[in-house]
Amino acid sequence: MATDLEIARATPLRPIAEIAARAGIPDAALIPYGRYKAKIDLDFVRAAEARPEGALVLVTGINPTAAGEGKTTTTIGLGDALNALGTRAMICLRAPSLGPCFGTKGGATGGGRAQVAPMEEINLHFTGDFHAVTSANNLLAAMVDNHLHWGNGLGLDPRRVGWRRAMDMNDRSLRNTVVGLGGAAHGVPREDGFDITAASEVMAILCLARDLADLQARLGRIIVGERRDGSAVTARDLKADGAMAALLRDALAPNLVQTLEGSPALVHGGPFANIAHGCNSVIATRLGLRLAEVVVTEAGFGADLGAEKFLHIKCRAAGLAPAACVIVATVRALKLHGGAAKAELAREDLGALARGMANLARHVENMGKFGLPVIVALNRFTSDTEAEIAAVRAAMARLGVEAVLCTHWADGAAGARDLARAVQAAIAARTARFTPLYPEAMPLAGKLRTIAREIYRAAEVQIPPPVAARLARWEEQGFGRLPVCVAKTQFSFSADPGLLGAPEGHVLPVREVRLSAGAGFVVAICGDIMTMPGLPKHPAAERIGLDAAGRIVGLF
Ligand code: ADP
Ligand code: MG
Repeated sequence: MATDLEIARATPLRPIAEIAARAGIPDAALIPYGRYKAKIDLDFVRAAEARPEGALVLVTGINPTAAGEGKTTTTIGLGDALNALGTRAMICLRAPSLGPCFGTKGGATGGGRAQVAPMEEINLHFTGDFHAVTSANNLLAAMVDNHLHWGNGLGLDPRRVGWRRAMDMNDRSLRNTVVGLGGAAHGVPREDGFDITAASEVMAILCLARDLADLQARLGRIIVGERRDGSAVTARDLKADGAMAALLRDALAPNLVQTLEGSPALVHGGPFANIAHGCNSVIATRLGLRLAEVVVTEAGFGADLGAEKFLHIKCRAAGLAPAACVIVATVRALKLHGGAAKAELAREDLGALARGMANLARHVENMGKFGLPVIVALNRFTSDTEAEIAAVRAAMARLGVEAVLCTHWADGAAGARDLARAVQAAIAARTARFTPLYPEAMPLAGKLRTIAREIYRAAEVQIPPPVAARLARWEEQGFGRLPVCVAKTQFSFSADPGLLGAPEGHVLPVREVRLSAGAGFVVAICGDIMTMPGLPKHPAAERIGLDAAGRIVGLF
């Protein structure tokens, strides 16, 4: 079996100008980064806003398991299949972060015959957007400490600086640090720490900004810390917003690449799906909708986190309304949800599958609550048996939902043709009536309770008094209309990663809340969540290198 990298390398790519021309992007709007990558000029992006919009299709999934589900792969395969059927489709994805690439998960460019390319470049430095986000984040951090050093005119409490430094790597040793040691000439000592770049609020801002002016306004609203009286100090107070926007100017332009089958793909922005909203940029999605008949886009993690945030945070901020929702599931992952052991997944187990189906069924029902027509994409693995596939189809048919078998990982576009037809039919039927589950005017705690009740099926939300007091204060300060961005484990509907399947009656413990005033949401941290991951005992980095010809090997 060829690796993803070998398949990608064996496929000749077309010059990016050719892909752009096919997508309706003129040469003058293209800013090439080498032969196969280009940024799209923001003037063209602005002018394209006047055009009519295509249909938006969200690809989401069941709660992720160690077995892998294939949302990115399905997003790409579906886009390729739509194009093959003559529907002009554009794929919108997040850009990969270096941490997972060198850690456990590997890259994020799809797999098998459903990939975006050039995968080495997209997975590594790409067009430098992540570096720009890191620089802007750290410029603000430097200006915070510089302000403390030069007399602290704003009265910032050094113990209440919330702004952390960022780096695009998994490095647990930097989670908690002390800066400013060495005496008076070397800054003011205080506790600090690093987040991975994908977890920086700057990344979330880049992905939610409508244009350069909105980008700078949002950067200015970032709260870096508090004074002793609890009042906020912002990036604007530090006069950092202009320089941050300057660093991010080019990064705001979306990146165009191609799939192995020549479909255009916009790969832009990469916010975490826990501390942030976990989907690609608003600019890229809105541009895609003006260029194509259908935009296929992925939301990170399972539908309880990724799709909920895509709908409540991104769609609302950007004025988007999906026409259909695809939920990706695999027989293997459903068996894990039903209690099968990881080592036994290749064996037929209809009992575990039937139990695990409760996870899929709940996600189907949840997406229906948002008024979206749902299609289940059953991403086929070679170990799946006919009886197992029939069981999933039958269970979904009982819910009135079509489960479509897909083999795009093995077969490319041809393997997702049935899925593409089902999506075409759902779009043509025009049954989508996107309805958020809570109004903007609902108090913040009420928003949390709504998500916990309607999506997680929790019996109760535990909000400790100090957390409730913070929420009340933010409401007084005018932040009450913001959506809530829940940070919890992706593995379960609950806050306990071990509770697989479809748990009910659990308690959602809100440990802490943070105000991302620039991004425009309130983060509710439920359980342990990581903003700076660590590397595993044997990271993927140990197997990545160069061959004798200087080509990269070991990326996946
Ligand atoms: P997600 O976006 O849900 O995290 P990806 O699409 O990135 O998942 O896929 C995760 C991994 O699983 C990738 O390495 C991909 O190549 C692999 N994969 C996806 N679908 C299949 C399949 N049908 N058979 C084998 N491997 C697959
Ligand atoms: Mg993915």
